[in-house]
Order: sequence, then structure tokens, then C-alpha cells
Amino acid sequence: MVSIYIDMDDVLCESNQTFLNILERDFGKKADYEEITAFDLKTSLDLSDDEYSRFFESIHDPDEMIRHKPAAGAKHLLDLWHDKGYRINVLTGRPAVAQPVSLEWLKKHDFKFHGFSIVDKYNRKSSRGDSSLTLEALSRQNFDLAVEDSGAMARFLSEEMGLQVALVDRPWNRSFSFNANVHRCRDWLDIKEKFENLS
Ligand SMILES: [Mg+2]
Repeated sequence: MVSIYIDMDDVLCESNQTFLNILERDFGKKADYEEITAFDLKTSLDLSDDEYSRFFESIHDPDEMIRHKPAAGAKHLLDLWHDKGYRINVLTGRPAVAQPVSLEWLKKHDFKFHGFSIVDKYNRKSSRGDSSLTLEALSRQNFDLAVEDSGAMARFLSEEMGLQVALVDRPWNRSFSFNANVHRCRDWLDIKEKFENLS
């Protein structure tokens, strides 16, 4: 059976867009999306340690997380994959405590999926919980395609696990170079053109 790995933030939802709104509203800082050239927001947004810890807390407030906008075209392709009988697995590096709001968000936007896991992708204490996966445990799973925006994760998936990766083009993954398993896609329409049919 075809099995697909799908990341959540900045793949299924436009998380960094919400984060920029929070940054302006709560911190009085205006930043442009194209300025997010590093995956680490503390670096990209030039925040002090104190600002970053408050910001990290704000952006993981369930009342904010539920408001993320779905990425255009994502639901359409997931529905097509679902109808073909492909197994859809959502694997996110969010903090373990964000599991309930993540599931609520997927339900709110009617995303169909078979599996949901928190994975400690970025070596963060917050992503380690009783039911979360380590990268080592993840690497024992098999997928026919992975959809990611993180350059570091795209490298892990393509190099360590040998997977085909649809990399959603974002300013923070443009400086990476990848092997031939990684396919840069401008949006979900592009992913559909390249990967609608898998076998
Ligand atoms: Mg992501």
C-alpha cells in the first residue's frame, strides 16, 4: 500500500504567516515572509533569548494554533490520495502538548488522514512525550513519499531513509543543497503535478 509522510507546519498550514502576525501584534516587530531565511525563528526574526521564549510560548498557544490557515491546494490533493487508497500519515515536530489542538485543526478543516505522530525532529525537549517518535524510530518506518518544508528534515528523509521528498519551497530551505531524491515544489498544485499518482 502506498504510504505518504506529510509534515504539518508550513506544509498543511501557513504557520509562519500566523507567527508574523503575532510578532507584530505582541512584539511590535514587522517582518516580511521572505526574511525568514533560517528555519530557526530566533535567528530569522532577530529575537533576544527572552523575546524568543515569550514568542515560542505565544505561537504554541492552542487559541493561536487553531487559527492557522490551510495551505492552498493541500486538502484537494490529500482527498485525491485518500480516494486512491493511499495511507496518509501526518508527522509533525510540534511540542507534544500540541497534539490535541493539532488533531482539532485537522478535523476543523476536514483533512482525511490515517496516522498522526509527534516526532522529535529538531532535538527539542518539548517534542519528547510518551507517544512521540525519535528520529531513529521514524527511520524504521517506510514511506513512498514525504512532503516537508524543513531543509534538515528533507536531508534526513532523503539521505538517511532514502525517501523521495517533495520539498515545499520556502525562504528558509533555499540555501540547502540536496541529493536527487528531493524535488522542490512551489506549492501543492506543483506537488499534484509531480506526485498525484504513486505506486
Ligand atoms: Mg514544517
